[in-house]
Amino acid sequence: MRTKEELAFQRCIRPACAATFSVSETLTACPKCGDLLDINYDWNRQQVPSSLKDFEKKYATRRNPLHYSGVWRFKELLNFAPDEAVLSIGEGQTLLRREADVAQYVGLDAKDVFLQYEGLNPSGSFKDNGMTAAFTHARMVGARMAACASTGNTSASLAAFAAATRALGLDNPLEAIVFVGSGRIAMGKLAQSLDYGARTLQILGRFDDAMRRVQEVAKARGIYIMNSVNPFRLEGQKAIMYRLLEALNWEVPDWIICPGGNLGNSSAFGKAFSELHCLGLVSRLPRLAVINAAGADTLNRVYNDYSVRWNEGAINSKGIETHYAKLDAEGTQAHTVATAIEINRPVNLHKCLRALECLNGMVLSASDQEILDAKAIVGRGGIGCEPASAASIAGLKKLVERKIIGKGERVACVITGHQLKAPEVTVGYHSPSGDLKKKLADEHDVQRTPNANAPIQVENDLDAILKALG
Ligand SMILES: *Cc1c(COP(=O)(O)O)cnc(C)c1O
Ligand SMILES: [Zn+2]
Repeated sequence: MRTKEELAFQRCIRPACAATFSVSETLTACPKCGDLLDINYDWNRQQVPSSLKDFEKKYATRRNPLHYSGVWRFKELLNFAPDEAVLSIGEGQTLLRREADVAQYVGLDAKDVFLQYEGLNPSGSFKDNGMTAAFTHARMVGARMAACASTGNTSASLAAFAAATRALGLDNPLEAIVFVGSGRIAMGKLAQSLDYGARTLQILGRFDDAMRRVQEVAKARGIYIMNSVNPFRLEGQKAIMYRLLEALNWEVPDWIICPGGNLGNSSAFGKAFSELHCLGLVSRLPRLAVINAAGADTLNRVYNDYSVRWNEGAINSKGIETHYAKLDAEGTQAHTVATAIEINRPVNLHKCLRALECLNGMVLSASDQEILDAKAIVGRGGIGCEPASAASIAGLKKLVERKIIGKGERVACVITGHQLKAPEVTVGYHSPSGDLKKKLADEHDVQRTPNANAPIQVENDLDAILKALG
């Protein structure tokens, strides 16, 4: 139970329930009604700075790991843990950058398009922002084993943090167990989980199967769950928005665009802005666009086809049930080249609907072709990303084409994962022929590669090389 003294507590997101629980409990759903949980704060008793600019002061004391971390230097906005419990591996040293090639590609001015590059995190994806918060909570409750189901990046991040509990010589190291779907994980990500020493179970099934199993196993064995049903993860992911604002000198952009998989990120972004607004730390809100892959587009379907809305917490959920019943009846599996968002049953759906309501949101889907064409443009700018991240750009292009986003609007796209996560896809796209290219055409219907930078085959001969250079 929650005690009145607690400055932070867990609360059911369903307003009609609103049950509260202590942060010392480990929960992934409301025990009363089964809906998701939030972390809430007694803001009157939290020491929140009066201006976001005050957070910049922490740069002066960066030797303190809590101030070095791109998550914990905003601790006053996610203050659920004592400082001693915090586990940081240097997450959140990320970058917001203007991208002229991307701007031109989507049809906006170069000055208005920004990429928030989360591939710079220690494990190469935004997941580290959330994992640091979840591991901190796991340490608060004395967990010894941490598990997740993953399309790859959650497991890479979990494995890295668990390894750090040993490497840093902590009293209570955590053991990592990860569940991945068979054959559906990008090489770079599987490599990380193996290399960092996580016990890696490849389930004969898809992500949605692995997700169900990990919850059963966690219950049977008392293992701490690190998926984004864990409300503490999303508290860390709020910091992506804090850093983005900081890079824009605390000016709120007109649009935030991100890919949608399990919908943790979009949910966290909505919560971040809603809290900042309530606290009077921002004076306006951005709009949010969440981009699904066409082959894994539950959010797009329920939001656009069935008009499912948060409705201040009274979700008209019939459309969700109808959609899931249809997927089951037709035996439809999620299928996209953007494996990080190859998810048909997004666990944070309700929270994402809330975020869309708060931020006047839009939902779109992009085909694998559109995603990879956009990905090649991101790569051209020297940043590069994995396929799922490029959904942000493919979505932005469509929003401009449909005149939903117009010239002069400032847009920040979240680039969620590093380019080297899925090299097989990148090489396939750029190659003129070969197995990897064929795989994209056969399995993902990516028939054209208009933005390819094909390697040039040349004889090992000076004249031939000079000729090839033109
Ligand atoms: C996890 C992940 C996503 C999806 O984020 P959600 O919060 O699950 O919607 C998108 N891109 C990358 C690279 C990811 O690792
Ligand atoms: Zn409840």
